[in-house]
Amino acid sequence: MNDSDTHFDEAFARTIHVGNSITDQNEHADLWDVADGILAGALQFWLYSRQPCEDKQCDDCSPVATAETRMAQLRRAIEQFSSQSDYFHSPHDRNAGRA
Ligand SMILES: [Zn+2]
Repeated sequence: MNDSDTHFDEAFARTIHVGNSITDQNEHADLWDVADGILAGALQFWLYSRQPCEDKQCDDCSPVATAETRMAQLRRAIEQFSSQSDYFHSPHDRNAGRA
């Protein structure tokens, strides 16, 4: 496992831990509020990490050179990570188990 994988796994695990920790310490915590706060923080960090450098012609930064291209990258990441989640489908989905 390389450093990139290790850092990804660490960030993922710590984020889950933050959510579990908040809900464990506050029995009345609203799960959706906690999740929204985690998501907002994750988005803040993700967008910060994708700021282009000062060179407006930089090829490396081309995929994140505008707010629109950054959002396109973000949407792709959301699609990828969501579809890989164990919770993407639920047995309680309205369209589950209907053949
Ligand atoms: Zn650049």
